[in-house]
Amino acid sequence: MTKKTIALLGNQNSGKTTLFNALTGANQYVGNWPGVTVDRVVGTISKKDWSVVDLPGLYSLSPYSAEEIVSRNYLIKGAYDVVVNVVDATHLERGLSLTLELLSFGEKTVVALNMMDKAKEQNIEIDVKALENKLGCPVVAISAATGDGIDALYEAIENASTPKKLNLYPKVMEDAITTIADKLSGDKQSIKEFIATALLQRDKLYVKEFNNENLQIELVAQRANVERELDDDVESVIATYRYKFVDSLVKEAVKRPSKVGKTLTNRIDDVVTNTYLAIPIFLVVVYVVYYLAVSTIGTWATDYANDVVFGEWATNAAASLLEGSPQWLSGLVIDGIIGGVGAVLGFVPQMIVFFLMLAFLEQCGYMTRVAFVLDRIFRHFGLSGRCLIPMVVASGCGVPALMNAKSIDNINERRITLITTTFVPCSAKLPILAMIAAAFFPESTFVAPGVYLLAIISIFATAFILKKQAAFREDVSPFVMELPDYHLPKLSNVLMSTYERCLHFIKKAGTIIFSTVVVIWFLSSFGFGEEGFGMVEVSDSMLAAFGTAVAFIFAPLGFASWQCAVAIITGLLAKENVVGTLAVLLGLGEVAEDDVSLGAALHGEFSTDAAALAFLAFNLFSTPCIAALGAMRRQLASGKMFAFACVYMLVWAYAMGIIIYQLGGLIAGQVAFGPGTIAAIAVLAVILYFIFKKEKAKSNLRIEARSI
Ligand code: GDP
Ligand code: MG
Repeated sequence: MTKKTIALLGNQNSGKTTLFNALTGANQYVGNWPGVTVDRVVGTISKKDWSVVDLPGLYSLSPYSAEEIVSRNYLIKGAYDVVVNVVDATHLERGLSLTLELLSFGEKTVVALNMMDKAKEQNIEIDVKALENKLGCPVVAISAATGDGIDALYEAIENASTPKKLNLYPKVMEDAITTIADKLSGDKQSIKEFIATALLQRDKLYVKEFNNENLQIELVAQRANVERELDDDVESVIATYRYKFVDSLVKEAVKRPSKVGKTLTNRIDDVVTNTYLAIPIFLVVVYVVYYLAVSTIGTWATDYANDVVFGEWATNAAASLLEGSPQWLSGLVIDGIIGGVGAVLGFVPQMIVFFLMLAFLEQCGYMTRVAFVLDRIFRHFGLSGRCLIPMVVASGCGVPALMNAKSIDNINERRITLITTTFVPCSAKLPILAMIAAAFFPESTFVAPGVYLLAIISIFATAFILKKQAAFREDVSPFVMELPDYHLPKLSNVLMSTYERCLHFIKKAGTIIFSTVVVIWFLSSFGFGEEGFGMVEVSDSMLAAFGTAVAFIFAPLGFASWQCAVAIITGLLAKENVVGTLAVLLGLGEVAEDDVSLGAALHGEFSTDAAALAFLAFNLFSTPCIAALGAMRRQLASGKMFAFACVYMLVWAYAMGIIIYQLGGLIAGQVAFGPGTIAAIAVLAVILYFIFKKEKAKSNLRIEARSI
């Protein structure tokens, strides 16, 4: 038995990851919306000593999205032995077009006809032999979810051979392909022909790579030739003949039940994506999720964790363990580590509840519908419904949200989404909200909805402003949103996804937040006192000195104390720090965010309600925590763009703060008219100017050499 590498390729949602898990026994995250596998994942089949690579889904080898490019590059590099093309048997037409492209590549290929269990359920009969004959490569019927057919798949992989060339196109087109291929260097005819086909279709990546003049002239000539003879452009010719081939193949090999009534999915969609009902239904779903995660079960569990587990058990245990140890050590452990990290871990129960529901909604297929429905609204702001998914995820944690944004096909939308997603208040920001609400607006219920509304306004305003800028107007290709069938998610998949997301959060608490807490504790406990450098009261600490030096920046926002400045700085590292830092700096130690003594102390910090709200707004909209920034940097894939994003967020946060304090305060009669008012009006005017600025018409100067 030789060692082999197997590449899994196929449409999104065809079941590649499920097959990968079935082959390797690994637990990759499986989702029921496009784009869950964003990078390639490698595993081993211990039974066979083979390695297997799970690649992002793709619809065609003329890729549009970043993840499709990942897959194509992998294919081209050729560091594998056999391609296993995973095709969803219940959506054959969609999958086989990619199969044709893969076969044209000329590498050993096996088609794994997946979801046969579902096909059977829907009474779809597939003549596997007929498919095999027509495609000229082995086709194996499998069900990745149940494990049926996996052994036959192993056998087919073992015996895979190079596929024979399919002559799909009319002679003039085939000739054009071979003519161009002959002009390319390289020793594999099939790959040369593949590149030739791509070049004829004006594939951007290849055109850039092979921009020599001779070749370009030949391309123009060949395209013109095809167009003259077939009276259609090259792209349409290729698409049409591929489609014809697939169509005849499906007609021959597939028997569908003659009386097709409405499937369950169609019937559910009649209600869920109904013009009038869709949005109310979505709002009800969101309400239920938040009711369970934030108002009831999640909060009970989190309160228990905070008050009992960390507030009593851990603190008491540490106190008795550390009896007799120096004061700084018990200070570090109890106030610093247990207080700080505990405050974060206390959130885990709430996140479990939230992520469980989110995983269910994702995997049953509902989230894709939501994206589809909201597309109508998002379009107006230069975004698509697809951008909603990261934003929903961000209400739990920004890190998985930003990672998810990678699979938004349209680069402009992806960038805008990456920059705006963390405006959504994540679970770590909620304690700041709770603290301000409890201290300043105990009777009113508008603060929380108001904050979400402001977040939504910030996202749309930002999208509106950015979409007009040149950097966010790159050429993009249209894309089609897939609506997968509804199905009941597997419990193990829901648990797996919840587990991974929580783990991410806990890791963050264990690393970044842990170190921040220690550093902040050190800076706030040490300084130059009367006896030189040593442990001092907070007010004499290094942190206080730094806070004092920068506090003036926030004076126009209505608060200028060093404590607030320090809380904001620690918040830039992780938003979980804000409440704890303030409580410690105000001399209260570990208290809950809605504690009465904290509320009283805050009234001393913020002379007006408006200032407290400005503080809240600045914390919500400024740059997210370090972990999220790391994810953002990676996904934006451009240092310049990332720097812009950071500056933009800080400026936006400051702008919201100054508008709320100066203008909100003025209206409420808490702040007098003055230079600050004028500054705030100017800021508001600039924002409105950018929002209403006319979009410059896109230049149409790009001339393509289409005809001679
Ligand atoms: P990928 O995007 O190609 O990686 O697809 P996934 O592996 O994430 O699977 C997409 C959805 O199809 C998931 O909800 C899977 O549970 C489901 N699925 C995958 N394979 C099968 C199968 O053989 N039968 C059935 N009924 N469902 C499957
Ligand atoms: Mg996958």
